[in-house]
Amino acid sequence: MSAVRRPLKSLGQNFLVDQNVIENIIDAARIEPGSALLEIGPGRGALTAHLAERAERLVLIEFDHALAAWHRDQHKHNQHVTVIDADVLKVDLDALLSETQQKWNVVANLPYNISTEVLFRLYNVHERLSRMTLMLQKEVGDRLAAPPDCSAYGVTTVLLGLWFDISRAFVVHPGSFHPSPKVDSVVLNFIPLASARADVGDEEVFRSVVKSAFSMRRKTLFNCLKSAEFAQQIDCGELLEACQIDGRRRGETLALEEFATLSRGVTAVMQR
Ligand code: SAM
Repeated sequence: MSAVRRPLKSLGQNFLVDQNVIENIIDAARIEPGSALLEIGPGRGALTAHLAERAERLVLIEFDHALAAWHRDQHKHNQHVTVIDADVLKVDLDALLSETQQKWNVVANLPYNISTEVLFRLYNVHERLSRMTLMLQKEVGDRLAAPPDCSAYGVTTVLLGLWFDISRAFVVHPGSFHPSPKVDSVVLNFIPLASARADVGDEEVFRSVVKSAFSMRRKTLFNCLKSAEFAQQIDCGELLEACQIDGRRRGETLALEEFATLSRGVTAVMQR
């Protein structure tokens, strides 16, 4: 069985071939002895052998059935390695990561076409994580560090910013992959915080406040909030006034603290 087959564009298969970059990612991941590791999209295994060497427990999720079968074969004598042949977006990550009390270190060169979706899912299981080292398309990575009131600032910036310290490790150029993507990539470290950066009340409410505020970027905050589901139970004008936030602003100008204030306001009304 061989891992060598034409890379599939539909699965975002840009395989790492640059040994320096591979070593730098492994260094950036700061894998502690005895770690539980999750790799999403192991591909042809550029990172996987290094991870298997260092982990007490390694779970691989790969959607390319041929590659998943190849990994299964590669690791058949290593009972610490589990291969899940599945779409990561369909895997119940919370159930998977609750198999051990230990917190998980996630390492991945993410398929670019689903990276934002994967980020949301990892955000949802932040409590189960000790650290993440993720390679993303540079543009997506830049969004995570964007300040309010710029076009890159969005839902992922606010949600992930609530629970993670995010720092850039290094930029990776297209020539480090086969085939070469058209754009630069970036490796980011995500360190989960012990407690949220702001008190948001109910976190599900927070998610829907943030998503609705960014749902129509050209509309005012008031109009965006008005079309959210919670607006059926809440007078958005009164809410904005009580929170001392001008509803004529655009959602993308709000800082995390202001989203938190709105979210606490909605939570309080919903709990009445
Ligand atoms: N980790 C390898 C590397 O660095 O060379 C491969 C990275 S490649 C950018 C992305 C990998 O994710 C591919 O192996 C691809 O088959 C896999 N993949 C794509 N979509 C996926 C999905 N929905 N669920 C799980 N794996 C997926």
